[in-house]
Amino acid sequence: MAFEGLTDRLQKALTGLKRKGKVTEADLRDSLREIRLALLDADVNYTVVKEFIRNVRDKANGAKVLEGLNPAQQIVSIVNDEMVAMMGEEAVSLNKAPKIPTVIMMVGLQGAGKTTTAGKLAKKLKDEQDARPLMIAADVYRPAAIEQLKTLGAQIDVPVFDQGVDVDPREIVRAGMALAREQKNDYVFIDAAGRLQIDEALMQELADIKAIAQPDEIMLVVDAMTGQNATETAQGFNERLGLTGITLTKLDGDTRGGAALSIRAVTGTPIKFVGQGEKLTDLDVFYPDRMASRILG
Ligand code: GDP
Repeated sequence: MAFEGLTDRLQKALTGLKRKGKVTEADLRDSLREIRLALLDADVNYTVVKEFIRNVRDKANGAKVLEGLNPAQQIVSIVNDEMVAMMGEEAVSLNKAPKIPTVIMMVGLQGAGKTTTAGKLAKKLKDEQDARPLMIAADVYRPAAIEQLKTLGAQIDVPVFDQGVDVDPREIVRAGMALAREQKNDYVFIDAAGRLQIDEALMQELADIKAIAQPDEIMLVVDAMTGQNATETAQGFNERLGLTGITLTKLDGDTRGGAALSIRAVTGTPIKFVGQGEKLTDLDVFYPDRMASRILG
């Protein structure tokens, strides 16, 4: 189960306080130390943890929590609020173009769930808004990727534009965009290539596709199970492409929580969706307050 270890340890750190009627400065210090270690073990970025602990301590001191009524309860609520703030406060919706089509460019490392997420999002838009998306198969390096996208498209009844693997992806995107304009599709999904690691050739190709398609949304798909690596991947893509949104996948798995808690604070890019399973309906809007409640247990 996701966050199990983190939730346990945060609860222990906080129930220790709750049992005491009066909380001393030493109690608070001990608890914050526990929380700090729990967050670091859950793979939360070091700088983010430092700032988080400092904020909680400053707020507790500023509000003279230790001298007031129910100090433990107030500390729990400060921890909760800071966690929500760290993840961005409010849910952020998908960007929308002033006139159709809204172009969503999907990027990410191989295996993160990029292609699956494109299908999930297209289905969501279709179901909720009666949208008419077109998906462009621009990952020509992994032949299976095109087939996978076509299979997904058939399942959700969304057309997929492809030109096989022998055409330059820039050309495919140009042709796909022209088709979407002609057919008046309201959304275009570009399933761009991934790699095992970020490399210059990939980034150049993605930058070129960005220039051609002028996407309204550059959505990075990252695997939450990869912890600190997810945050580093997001930093790498953001520096080069300027991300507008992140989808965190595999939150149904045994993830420790680091990515959910760090990515927004490190990159400034909002997590917009979370993937919570392999089915095409397993995609949810990301709500920082609900995630904080889930992590705190
Ligand atoms: P891509 O290489 O980034 O396009 O990755 P794929 O879309 O092919 O996904 C890789 C694998 O991860 C597939 O087996 C997906 O079913 C799986 N996957 C994607 N999202 C999720 C998720 O949220 N939860 C789980 N459990 N599996 C996922």
